[in-house]
Amino acid sequence: VLLLDANKHKVKTSNTPGQTVLSNQHLFDFKAASYITKDSTSEEEFTFSDSITIANPSGMHARPSAEFISITKNFSSKVNVKKGTKTVNGKSLVALLSLEMEHNDIITISVSGSDAKELLAELSNFISNNKELSNNSTTINPPPSSTNGIKEDGIFYGVPASEGKAIGKVFQVGLIDLKIPSHTSTPEKETPILENAISKSKQELTTLAINVSNKSGKENAKIFHAHMELLEDPDIHLIAVELIKKNKNAAFAWHTAYTEVANTLAELRNENLAARASDIKDVGLRVLKEIIPVNDNALKFDQLPSGTILIAPDLTPSETARLDKNKISGFATTFGGSTSHVAIIARSLGIPAIVGTDQEVLHLKNNQEVLLNAEDGFLKTNLSKEEVAETIRENKKKDEENKIAILNSKKMAITTDGKRIEVAANITNVDDAKKANKLGCDGIGLFRSEFIFMESEKEPSIQKQTEVYQAALDEISKTENKPFIIRTLDVGGDKPLSYLPIPQEENPFLGERGIRVSLDNPELFRNQIKAILSIRPLDKVHVMFPMVSTLAEIITAKKIVTEEQNNLGVKKILIGIMVEVPSTALMADIFAQHVDFFSIGANDLTQYTLAIDRGHSKLAKNADGLNPSILKLIKLTCEAAKKNNIWVGVCGGIASDLQAIPILLGLGVNELSVSIPMIPKVKSKIRELNLQECQKLAITALNCASAFEVRKLK
Ligand code: PEP
Ligand code: MG
Repeated sequence: VLLLDANKHKVKTSNTPGQTVLSNQHLFDFKAASYITKDSTSEEEFTFSDSITIANPSGMHARPSAEFISITKNFSSKVNVKKGTKTVNGKSLVALLSLEMEHNDIITISVSGSDAKELLAELSNFISNNKELSNNSTTINPPPSSTNGIKEDGIFYGVPASEGKAIGKVFQVGLIDLKIPSHTSTPEKETPILENAISKSKQELTTLAINVSNKSGKENAKIFHAHMELLEDPDIHLIAVELIKKNKNAAFAWHTAYTEVANTLAELRNENLAARASDIKDVGLRVLKEIIPVNDNALKFDQLPSGTILIAPDLTPSETARLDKNKISGFATTFGGSTSHVAIIARSLGIPAIVGTDQEVLHLKNNQEVLLNAEDGFLKTNLSKEEVAETIRENKKKDEENKIAILNSKKMAITTDGKRIEVAANITNVDDAKKANKLGCDGIGLFRSEFIFMESEKEPSIQKQTEVYQAALDEISKTENKPFIIRTLDVGGDKPLSYLPIPQEENPFLGERGIRVSLDNPELFRNQIKAILSIRPLDKVHVMFPMVSTLAEIITAKKIVTEEQNNLGVKKILIGIMVEVPSTALMADIFAQHVDFFSIGANDLTQYTLAIDRGHSKLAKNADGLNPSILKLIKLTCEAAKKNNIWVGVCGGIASDLQAIPILLGLGVNELSVSIPMIPKVKSKIRELNLQECQKLAITALNCASAFEVRKLK
């Protein structure tokens, strides 16, 4: 019932329902499949719909087509779709797309089988009512801009995400080097190899869809559902299966099948549909990787030579966390914002990085020498000898200054007029704790505990969590007991957790995040509290709740901590909250009566105050935590803390920003929790400052009209 092409690519209807036989022996010459089904050749009875008009203003693009296919899956009946003179298998996404159904096109649907009537009603209804617009931004790796990509001036601008400069050699994460084997084999051997690869890829896509949905909404995840459909597409399978029957190996058969179909789609006149060719290639490659080793460079960062500058559309937080500074001198991504978690991790590793970089950067050749300037925000090719020498000199000078700062970093940071400021570290794992202690941190101001959860395939056991917290505490307590603040699970937003049932959301940053997730999953929250209460000694261990926006959240979360303390018979530990939602800063005078400390999460506070997604590459330049609106919220928080005799720290990115530090001190902050490599520099900076002058500077800053004006102040 599947393919019939009069010229080269004949497909006969099989006698056995559900099976098809390709009669053409040169199938791997398959170039222009027309996906035609001929009802008249079938003996089955088909029921035909009336004429149906395509309601979708963008036509039946990939996502509605994929939804159409998923509807058909709930029914056993066969489906054909006809536009003009062309009829195709309605259970094949590729075939449906090849019909190029545009807005107001008239089609008919014919169905055959025991549940035909019901299926016909559902499909007609779907086609007449689906109006979901096409949005090409949902492709995973948006194609680079249409120019041939190489900028004449050789400068690619981006947003500084992790300071520093580096000279290094380009390595494109994502370039593919395909070596398809051509040996012959037997269907008995190759069929299970292909089936297994497809099934593994399906599992991967399911996880990916959940992660993307949690990270950036269900709309963006739909493309992966479409990919799942493509994986099951009977037309691609048919070509591959026939090649395997002709003793081709699974890799060869699959590669031929998906590239031929992709090339066919690429030739379609509708650009949206032609763009689906890249989805087919993407999905095809995913399967191919399960059959043969594919050198797509991804995740093999550890094998790279030192002095590599990575270039990628995007990196995930966990990929970034695995980067080794000895090999990776810096990276540039075309997505992302400066307060995204990728940027935060890069800073903690001391790896210079720019994000939101010009798309053309993806065209640079591997091994090309470049300068990454993550202070002014650009990547440059065509380097002169002087530029290279100057950067090396600058880096050497910085290293020396840093060495001096490190020598003093174990000492306290006290302003010239005697105010001690605690300089703590932001960490995500035990290794970080070790590094932070080496650099003289006064404690851990923020343990982002979610990374223990994100690196695990399922919820880590209480015992596993305790082990990690204990090991990190042991690292920083080698010489003395230091404050150790564990923030409870902060997932949601740009930190998805595949095994948690966070619903698909349009705006994940405004949805189930932080403490909201914990309170919605009380067992998980209790387990984490139990794990924290099991480490020893407990006297300097504090717990902190993320993303608090109401008093009710504080009261409920505290109640759980108290109950677990009573169950375990341990002493009370200090409980604090992150101040990272404007409502909490505005209500700080009341909330302060219920907690032992505040820690200002300036990254999120900036995002929510300025209404700029922290991962937004275009708007990143405006997402400055020194915007006076945010300084006013910090001031309110500090005043409320002082009035209620509790301390207040800052653990967002501006705590590590040397320009922001005098203003934060002037506003009344007692603690700065900074990215690890910045500990010595932040301490040195504090030692240069006079608190009274900082207070004057803070007042001036509060009266500025913009972050730009604040940054101009001396
Ligand atoms: C913040 O929002 O400033 C913060 C420290 O928390 P995170 O960056 O982990 O969201
Ligand atoms: Mg935050």
